[in-house]
Amino acid sequence: MRRSLIAANWKMHKKIDEGLSFITGLKEKYPRTHPVEVVICAPFTMLFALAEKALGSGISIGAQNLYWEKKGAYTGETSGQMIVDAGCEYVIIGHSERRQYFHETNVEVNKKIKAAHAERLNVIFCIGESLTEREAGQTFTVVQKQLIEGLEGISEDALESITLAYEPIWAIGTGVTATPEQAGEVHTFIRKLIREQFSDPAAEKMRILYGGSVKPGNVDQLMALDDIDGGLVGGASLELSSFLQLINFKSS
Ligand code: PEP
Repeated sequence: MRRSLIAANWKMHKKIDEGLSFITGLKEKYPRTHPVEVVICAPFTMLFALAEKALGSGISIGAQNLYWEKKGAYTGETSGQMIVDAGCEYVIIGHSERRQYFHETNVEVNKKIKAAHAERLNVIFCIGESLTEREAGQTFTVVQKQLIEGLEGISEDALESITLAYEPIWAIGTGVTATPEQAGEVHTFIRKLIREQFSDPAAEKMRILYGGSVKPGNVDQLMALDDIDGGLVGGASLELSSFLQLINFKSS
């Protein structure tokens, strides 16, 4: 049985005091026995403070990116070991905003995944097609290429620390959500790919999150699908009240 995961992606939002009061409020409403795992992926500036605040609560803290080198003259970059040092257990890699605005390639995403694994960080590995690609009928080929190139050289053991996130770019921050049918068919396709590239057990264990305008009003429907194991949430993760509704989705 795969434990569902709801991950908040705060992107470039919130100051330290805002992040801390969110975690304080979340801790009050999140029993350690909660069936859904919760991860808060926050800006670098507050990771250490949030991780301290979340200690012992069962809430994990994650970064939104890393650089693959351990240390050195890479001005402005942050390594996996620094993220671990700050108290993080997770890191998002390959988010479409990084691919789009910072020109991250599949090869770089692959290096980042390997660097995260070397530091025993859990990875939320994002893949997904643009609207143009979907309209050109290329959804499956794009997702397949991102998945295969991103996981190149990754062992089945290492796969255990990876959670995939299918995020159709046209649904991110747009208010347009993939229908359960659209999301479901891609999730099923991704699980089949994992089965082909690795094994049946690897595919059964792999958590595949959906991301793209998940909100309290659509979360139950999406999470009800067999191949959807949770969500990666931007906008609706910023307010504690809506985030609490998401982690308490029906059927959890
Ligand atoms: C995201 O940032 O990964 C995301 C899915 O954002 P939103 O929920 O705002 O669409």
